[in-house]
Amino acid sequence: MRYAILADIHSNLVAFQAVLRDIESKGGTDEIWCLGDVVGYGPEPHACIELLCQYKHICVAGNHDWAAIGKVDISDFNPHAAQAILWTRQQLAAGDVNYLQDLPQKISRGDFTLVHGSPRYPIWEYLEPGWLSMKDVEDNFNRFDTKFCLVGHSHRPIVFQQDSLKRYSVATIPSEIRLSFESKRLIINPGGVGQPRDGDPRASYAMYDSEAQMVYHYRVNYDITATQQKMLENDLPSSLIERLSCGY
Ligand code: ZN
Repeated sequence: MRYAILADIHSNLVAFQAVLRDIESKGGTDEIWCLGDVVGYGPEPHACIELLCQYKHICVAGNHDWAAIGKVDISDFNPHAAQAILWTRQQLAAGDVNYLQDLPQKISRGDFTLVHGSPRYPIWEYLEPGWLSMKDVEDNFNRFDTKFCLVGHSHRPIVFQQDSLKRYSVATIPSEIRLSFESKRLIINPGGVGQPRDGDPRASYAMYDSEAQMVYHYRVNYDITATQQKMLENDLPSSLIERLSCGY
């Protein structure tokens, strides 16, 4: 089975469609594993939910998903993100609200646990170097039972490792991760589809091949200016429009 691992689509339909085309060109997917933040920031929240729901998929809740329906407070959002959330609320159909309302915080599938932020704080915690000490990383490895965990939220493609001696390290995600020969436990972030933040503006996603026991990481070009034009037409904050060009 092939599982497409997508995080932080963020209402960027053009990027989402480009990733789906890339998936098809590589042999398709049996199920999409979505790591939350389907909406927020971008110009097409309804269309992104609608498109995701056309696929067999599972999805966990992100902070933007729940902020968009008032399930979490936007007082912790920066002003531009909050402005985009208030706009997003007006765009959602009743079915979209129900869909976001029912998203779980955590899902376990076989060897994998799926969360948006981190295993210990699924909605809010950024699992990335700079925000957390290695002690915090260790604590997060103790908060899930499976061998592997998939996270989003930071929009950066990285992998945390716990080796057999319970030593911890973090690295940029490689293009291929061989799971079968891997005694290490891993927390994998596939990077963001709709708003990458690692300095590379291309959409980022991963594919888990359960037969090969491999995770592959891919980058995909998409028409950034098309998304930016739609944001401009909807008066979304210019900082959110500009950041797409530089992948931050
Ligand atoms: Zn996000």
